[in-house]
Amino acid sequence: MSELNLIFLGAPGSGKGTQAQRLMDDFDIAYIATGDMLREEVAQGTPLGTKAKLFMDKGDLVPDDVIIAMIAEKLSKTEAHDGFILDGFPRTIAQADALSQQLTALGKELSAVLLIEVSDDEVVRRISGRRVSATTGRVYHVDLDPPKHEGRCDVDGARLLQRDDDKPETVKKRLSVYHQQTAPLISYYGERDLLRRFDGTRSPTEVHDHVRATLATLRLEELL
Ligand code: AMP
Repeated sequence: MSELNLIFLGAPGSGKGTQAQRLMDDFDIAYIATGDMLREEVAQGTPLGTKAKLFMDKGDLVPDDVIIAMIAEKLSKTEAHDGFILDGFPRTIAQADALSQQLTALGKELSAVLLIEVSDDEVVRRISGRRVSATTGRVYHVDLDPPKHEGRCDVDGARLLQRDDDKPETVKKRLSVYHQQTAPLISYYGERDLLRRFDGTRSPTEVHDHVRATLATLRLEELL
């Protein structure tokens, strides 16, 4: 495996983004998060963003064709020496099939799919306490990682906001969408012998250590 081409799979709030950030510190690897890309389109008021927002605010998935086109463009442009991490994509079997075709066309293959497992109750607890700085984008949690001054970003004092799709009713909807449309990817990648499971209730450092050990084993196996 000359490069690490990874997918993080897991419910919203499972800690995929945190783990991806840590891996990016370890490897020269590109980070592709479809949720962030869509929020950027929404913030810029593009036609794609305007269309996507209708689905995102309700906790629904943006249609497959929109996402597949967006990711194809990104993957073809992505330059990272050690590979890429996908966070939030694929989320449906159709997206996984499209990804597989795109990678084949680019002469690449997946190294592993990293599944971070947490219970639904824990997801609701984590996401409903999440607050984001309007200016820096830094993420806090009212109980688990509070800012020094309530409601204000530590960096510049900007007001902290709750994302529309982090409101409790929307979180429940996102979870049910995850179970119905995304969870089937667990057996999809299991059958392809790509799935690796991690206990997302452990501390971020423990999960990270486990992920690193798993990736080291994969690389060793390749040398055998
Ligand atoms: P995330 O930040 O990954 O939880 O994504 C936020 C929202 O963006 C999701 O609730 C969906 O509405 C939309 N979204 C992100 N990635 C995808 C995807 N791969 N397929 C469909 N919708 C997506």
